[in-house]
Amino acid sequence: MIIAIDGPAASGKGTLGKHLAAHFGLRHLDTGLLYRAVAKTLLDEGAPLTDRARASAAARTLDPARFDEAALKGHAVGEAASIVSTIPEVRAALVDYQRAFATRPPGAVLDGRDIGTVIAPNADVKIFVTASAQERARRRARELAAQGLAVNEVEILADIEKRDERDRSRAVAPLAAAPDAHLLDTTHLDIDAAVRAAIDIVQTARTG
Ligand code: C5P
Repeated sequence: MIIAIDGPAASGKGTLGKHLAAHFGLRHLDTGLLYRAVAKTLLDEGAPLTDRARASAAARTLDPARFDEAALKGHAVGEAASIVSTIPEVRAALVDYQRAFATRPPGAVLDGRDIGTVIAPNADVKIFVTASAQERARRRARELAAQGLAVNEVEILADIEKRDERDRSRAVAPLAAAPDAHLLDTTHLDIDAAVRAAIDIVQTARTG
């Protein structure tokens, strides 16, 4: 079984992906990490994030087994990832890895921006996760505060809106719900309720 989860920044799709994978005995891939790793490579090299040749070389030679997830999860790398992810050659270089991951038995949960539309258009179940930008900013602020970091919720909201706009408006594989995706709005749901709703969607789709 392949489950595709897409949604905007800080919508909780990664958390849902992890829980769904554990519940249904599937592997899980947070595809944002791939774009983050490409961006981090350029940042480490001091190369401009718009350097198409270096960005696509970084994507082609990426070794996902060597990720240091903690180093990729920061805010600056996320912003940088949303810039390199607009480069068509970068996206093209990462397609095969994602599709191979998805189809290897027993299947997988992939979360990202274009999983249901481009990477796995034949996924068994597609979920598009949303939450209001204000609620996503609030959650991100709580997460950062829990790590002891200084938090400015107004700036976080502005960053989230900027990233959403860039992801939605890019020419190649923009953030969009597939026509056959189930919409899951988590604005008023806590994590447990969102996970239960996602499990229900998958179970209903499988039996129906
Ligand atoms: O999901 P995450 O915030 O880690 O993703 C970082 C950035 O990587 C996103 O803002 C988006 O621009 C890009 N991305 C993408 N396609 C995916 C996953 C992430 O373009 N499938």
